[in-house]
Formats: sequence, structure tokens, C-alpha cells
Amino acid sequence: MPSVLWFRRDLRIHDNPALLAAVEAARADGDGRVVALFVLDPRLWDTAGDVRRAWLSRSLTALDASLGGELLVRHGDPLALVPEVAAAADAGTVHVAADFGPYGSTRDRAVEAALETAGRTLVRTGSPYAVAPGRVRKGDGTPYRVYTPFFRAWCTHGWRSPAGEPDEAPLWRLDDAGTLSCEGIPAAPELGFDLPPVGEAAALQVWDEFRDRALSSYDDGRNRPDLHGTSNLSAHLRWGEIHPRTILADLDDSPAQTVFCKEIAWREFYADVLHHQPDSARTWLDPRFAAMDYDEGHEADERFEAWRTGRTGFPFVDAGMRQLLTEGWMHNRVRMVTASFLVKDLHLPWQRGARWFMHQLRDGDLASNQQGWQWVAGSGTDASPYFRIFNPVTQGLRFDPLGDYVRRYVSELRDLPGAGAHQPWDHPLLTSVTDYPDRIVDHAAERDESLTRYATLPKR
Ligand SMILES: Cc1cc2nc3c(=O)[nH]c(=O)nc-3n(C[C@H](O)[C@H](O)[C@H](O)COP(=O)(O)OP(=O)(O)OC[C@H]3O[C@@H](n4cnc5c(N)ncnc54)[C@H](O)[C@@H]3O)c2cc1C
Repeated sequence: MPSVLWFRRDLRIHDNPALLAAVEAARADGDGRVVALFVLDPRLWDTAGDVRRAWLSRSLTALDASLGGELLVRHGDPLALVPEVAAAADAGTVHVAADFGPYGSTRDRAVEAALETAGRTLVRTGSPYAVAPGRVRKGDGTPYRVYTPFFRAWCTHGWRSPAGEPDEAPLWRLDDAGTLSCEGIPAAPELGFDLPPVGEAAALQVWDEFRDRALSSYDDGRNRPDLHGTSNLSAHLRWGEIHPRTILADLDDSPAQTVFCKEIAWREFYADVLHHQPDSARTWLDPRFAAMDYDEGHEADERFEAWRTGRTGFPFVDAGMRQLLTEGWMHNRVRMVTASFLVKDLHLPWQRGARWFMHQLRDGDLASNQQGWQWVAGSGTDASPYFRIFNPVTQGLRFDPLGDYVRRYVSELRDLPGAGAHQPWDHPLLTSVTDYPDRIVDHAAERDESLTRYATLPKR
């Protein structure tokens, strides 16, 4: 009997425990043949933006190449297709890395039940995380609600070493009987800009290059969007082209590498939060915030549009939003500032901004994105206090001190010298630029307005 390896967000062949389990099962029960399957699920594909679709398409192409062209791609509902493929291949087991997201975990339970009725088994081995969501708990068994104690307990719990390689190369096969036609990898949409190299080999190379170039100064460099001080691994991690365990195995306990480890742990923490509170993908973790007065109507829509297209008149915010439009990615510091601007300067609910980020980000990940937004909005687990409102001008001066980041993305301000773009709005340097939009709001006034609205909420 062969086995089926159902790839989802683990598009790699190295350090892949589910792959090892599939190979082992196929060898124990038969001649070692494994059907490598990817199901293009319209519920995920239709709701993804073009950037994520393009990434997935290229990542599947890379995976297919490493499987010798034997990746079976089917289009449709996994609940119907996975049992169908398992039956056609006469496989006893279907192997996956466990999915802990709200949609994925429900889907997997349904597929598991459907397989069981036909006498087959869904086998979960590993997950997209170093420590599976739900594992790290307080002494009383409840989940952590605050990051720092979670991080300590996560370190104490520890994680496995990277998984090895199969002793012999697996025998990948599409189908002997010809009943399992491959529907093909969907074409990557045209983006109008280039994505960086995609796939497992690219992910490993990005990690190698970052380790040599910037890891030792990550603690200082990570907050500077004008420098290339971060790893750019988020989309590779999101698609499982590299496993966090592969990264963690290379880290030592120097200050810079410990800070990097803590960032990987944020990803794990947010997955844990979403696992325990799936509704937090849509609603406020702190339910008091549902009663907040949010703006709506024509003017709110216009302001949202100015934010989305990078035309707020705040150079640091506009640079970030234009980076998102032209690269499908944004630096973390600028994600915080642009998200804060939407919630606390424009008084719009975080969900509106989160939807646009998810649509546009190549690393769009439900757990990190929704919890990142909730953190900024002050409604999340371990939230920043609501009154800590980012000032988009001083944040620019501090984290883009030479103005290079703004000049890179805001063409109207390209000729301003040094930190010119981060000067107060009435500075002659800025008023001399005529084709750049006026500021859509007065930050000081909107900050006060935000605090006034917050004061109407019941106290914690
Ligand atoms: C409003 C908002 C929305 C966000 N949306 C996403 C998202 O959809 N997908 C996503 O992967 N990250 C998201 N983040 C987290 C963070 O901004 C990105 O992971 C980071 O910018 C990716 O760049 P990098 O790979 O160079 O990060 P590095 O600084 O090199 O960090 C290494 C890795 O650690 C993880 N990481 C770092 N910071 C965070 C964080 N704050 N939260 C969770 N994981 C983190 C990422 O996997 C990242 O690749 C969001 C943050 C905010 C404030």
C-alpha cells in the first residue's frame, strides 16, 4: 500500500517530519511509494490576494521540481478530494503536518472522519511551529495570555532538533492507473513587480545570507526600515518553505540571536492565542472595544482610501503603505505605525486594516496579522496600553533618521535632503513640495479624540 503526503503550508522536503512518516508508512505497508498531493482549495485561493497567489504558485512549482515533477495537484474541496485520491491510490494513510488555524483544523477533522469511514487514517506529524500551539500552558493548565511568560515557558518546554532525511530517496508517484489526473499548478497572476526567489532552496539561501550579513546586529538593526536589518523570512515561514526549528537549531544565546529567537516566539505565541481563541481572527479579544465609537460613512471611506494608497500626507505612513502596494511586504516597525494610524488617527476598526494587509501581504498569516493588529489597537492579548499612540512624525525621525526609507517609496519626496520628509508639516522643506498630498488629519487632535473615545469604555 502506498501512502499519501498531503502538502498544505509545509512546501518543503527537508526537515519535514510528515514526509518521513509518509515514507516510513509506505515502506512498512508496501513498496515505499508516496503520492505527493496538493489540493487547491477555492475557499483559500479565492480569498487570497494576487501576491499570495503568485507566491503559492511559484512555491508549488519549486516543490514539484524537487519531487521530480510528481506533485499531484487537484482543484476543489479537500473534503471530497483527499479521500478520493487516497481511494484511487489505495493508500492506507494520509500524512499531514497538523494545522491549528480555525479553518484548517475544522477541515482536517472533517477529512479525518471521511477517511475513517473508508478504513483509512489521517496521520498528523509535526506542525508549522517549533512547539505546537496548545502545548505550552500555565501550571494550572490554562493558556498564557501574556507574551513574556509564554516565551519563558516556551523556552523551558524546548523543541526537537531538525528532522533528518529519509535513508533512501522516496519513490514519488502520481498514479499508475491514470485515474488521478493532475489538474496542474495555477498560473501566477501578474503583479506589476517582481517577487524575490520563492521556494525551499530560496528560503534556505535567505536564512544563510541573513545569518552571515545581519544576524549579529539584529538587536539594533531590526527597527530600521531604511536598513536591511531583518531576515525577510516571513513569507518563507508562512508557506513552510523553511521550518522554524531549522532556524532555531542555528541560534546561540548571544544578545542579538536571543532577540531573533524572541521574534520567532512571537509567531508561536500568536498561533497559540488563535488556537485557543479562534474568534479573535474577527472580533476584539478585549470585548470592551466592540463598543468603541468607530468612524464610518463617506469621509471615513475616503480616509481609508488615502491610507490604503499611501496618500495620507504623513511620509512615514505613506512610505509603508506604498511599500505594501509595490512589494507585498512591509517592515515590522512601519506595520505598527501604519496600523496605529488607521485605528488611532482615523478611528477605523482594526479589522478593516487587517483585511487589506491580508489581501496584500506575501506573508499574510491569520494568526500573526490579526493578533498584530489587535496588539496595536490595544484590544489584544498582551496589548500595548491604548494610550501608547505612535506619532508618525517622530517615529520617522527616530527609525528613518536619514529619510532614506521615505525617499525610496515616496517619489514626490525623493529630492528632499536628509530627514527632510520627517519635519513638522509646516516646515518650509515640506511645504515647498507641491505634488505631495496635504495631511488628511491633525495627529495631535486625533490623538486626543482617540483618548476621549477610549475613556467612554468600561474600565478593565
Ligand atoms: C499590524 C501587523 C500585522 C502583521 N502581519 C503579519 C503577517 O500577516 N504575517 C507575518 O508573518 N507577520 C506579520 N506581522 C509581524 C511582523 O511584522 C513580520 O513577521 C515581519 O515584519 C516579517 O519580516 P522579517 O521576516 O524580516 O522579520 P524578522 O524581524 O527577521 O523576524 C523573523 C521572523 O519572526 C517572526 N516575527 C517577527 N516579528 C513578529 C511579530 N511581531 N509577530 C509575529 N511574528 C513575528 C516572523 O515569522 C519573521 O519572519 C505583523 C505585524 C504587525 C504589527
